[in-house]
Amino acid sequence: MSGAELAFAGLAIGIIPIVVEILKSYSVTKSRLKTFARYHHVIADVQLRYQVASANFSNNSQLLLQAAVESSKEVSEMVKDPQHAGWQEPDIEERFRNFLERDHQLCEGIVLKIRDVLRQTQTMLSILDQDSTPTFLQAFNISSKENRYRHALEELDQWNLKLSNLCQQRCRLQKRRGISSHCIIRRTAPKSVSHIRVASQTLRESLQDSWSCTNISHSGHQAKLSVDASAEYDTVQLDVVIACQRKVLPSNSRSASELPIWLHVRSVTASRTLPAPTVSSANTITRSLHAITHPNIDEKSDTTVKSERKKLRKRVLFVEPEDDRDKHKRKSNRESSQSIPENDSLAQTLAMVDLKATKSVCCHMKSACSRPASCKDPCLGYLESVSSPQCFKLIFYDASRRTSTHQLQPRFSAEAFPISNMLQDLKTLHQLTLAHKLAITTLQYHSTSWLPLDWGLQDIGYFDNTTQASCPADTISQQLASLHLSTKFQWKVPEVTLDPTQSPKDLKYLYGIRNLALAKLGVALIEICSQKDIGKLATTPTAHDVISARKILLERPPCLESLGMKYVEIARKCIDCDFSCGDDLNKEDLQSAVYTDVVCALEEQIKRWKQFIGL
Ligand SMILES: [Zn+2]
Repeated sequence: MSGAELAFAGLAIGIIPIVVEILKSYSVTKSRLKTFARYHHVIADVQLRYQVASANFSNNSQLLLQAAVESSKEVSEMVKDPQHAGWQEPDIEERFRNFLERDHQLCEGIVLKIRDVLRQTQTMLSILDQDSTPTFLQAFNISSKENRYRHALEELDQWNLKLSNLCQQRCRLQKRRGISSHCIIRRTAPKSVSHIRVASQTLRESLQDSWSCTNISHSGHQAKLSVDASAEYDTVQLDVVIACQRKVLPSNSRSASELPIWLHVRSVTASRTLPAPTVSSANTITRSLHAITHPNIDEKSDTTVKSERKKLRKRVLFVEPEDDRDKHKRKSNRESSQSIPENDSLAQTLAMVDLKATKSVCCHMKSACSRPASCKDPCLGYLESVSSPQCFKLIFYDASRRTSTHQLQPRFSAEAFPISNMLQDLKTLHQLTLAHKLAITTLQYHSTSWLPLDWGLQDIGYFDNTTQASCPADTISQQLASLHLSTKFQWKVPEVTLDPTQSPKDLKYLYGIRNLALAKLGVALIEICSQKDIGKLATTPTAHDVISARKILLERPPCLESLGMKYVEIARKCIDCDFSCGDDLNKEDLQSAVYTDVVCALEEQIKRWKQFIGL
């Protein structure tokens, strides 16, 4: 067959049917060779070479299929089974064509050639099968045919090699092109991610700079920030608990420790410092805010709502934030009637205090929080942070008076523990939920003072609410809803600094840790699936947790695969910062890649697991 004929034949058939035929043909020939095996002294070598040729072709097919089929499990199943439904997919040939581009015809030509050689070999073998000549003649026949087999095998080897080269070249070309943009579609990370990061860092800096305390029994203050923050338009809502550290006195018992101040903080961003609104504007603002938080109630035309939203962006300040819609739905009517603030109380909130001007922010908040319950004003005051080009207003609310009081809220008496304590008790859904929350936490709080550079599970806390009688699984779900990050501010004892030999720069250059925050997320994911501390999981001590994690990924202990291979792959990607988007998590590219490949991928796993267990 000439080259042109070959190309023509190829065009008419397509690669898929030929590949399938070859895969079938190899297995048929393999079984024929088995019946032929009684002549092993002659044929052993031929048989081995035939098996090698078969393996080569299967591997090449696998390489090709990987470019057209997403699931690696499906790829290997297809190669093993020529009857696999995957071969029948309507657009698979088209995907091959896209991958091979101009080499598509060439590839068809090669596989056709391989098929023809195999057809000939099979014919030869079937003739030999029917051979009933006396043994010595058979032996003679075999030795003469042996040469023909060897010739056929050589030809097969050559064509397999050509196919292999072509596949590899194509794969390299595609990889260099950024793994064909048409097969990786990434979702953009939500804007809230960076809004929350900036607002939380502003809050941390404001606490450090503006917090004052005249209570001599306090030796320091600690803030615990809930990882579940929300952002809408230019406002970010953060939940924070402030605990005052008492000086250690011999008479101090545990029970005498102060209750923490539990706050909601609303950070409003504006491009410049805004004048305080007048009382008369309060009702308009309330209505506008209501339109935003309860869009279903007010069915106005889109344009009206839009214009109100625009207005709000510039004007909303000092207003008691309304509930989330979800939280609102959860509340009973009785609670709603008690808690929806009256316009009066909204007016009261306007009498806000610039906390910076108070003598002691700590004492002010303490006394404001201990006001009688009849006082409905949840507002405590504000702090302003002016940094070019943006200005932030942080408005503090007393959480116990807030309307959105969440059923999952930590009790004031609840104690905080590091999440590493509860690893052993987690069930699959908890593990996936925790992994998902940590992925969002990394995106939202990396490079802020809330999340240490070299963070770990010991830095993520939860509130233990064991007083509530519920089943252990529910208790864990509630604890997972109370995840928070801690930071100390105005702490008299100097904070522990990083080991200078383990600075992110050194870790980058010495150990190739491209992005420490992400790598530590990968480490945490491994700890979650194996339910063990990375130090206990590693067989030998290493210079850094990330190196231990890499070793574990190579060693593959069985506990690593408890949440499936896709999960392990997500962890590996984080550890190696393997997203083809550089290593700077402040860049939108990498944020979106992590959002798609980690956050959304884990979300998908949670969804599938819930379906599986019938939730
Ligand atoms: Zn204090």
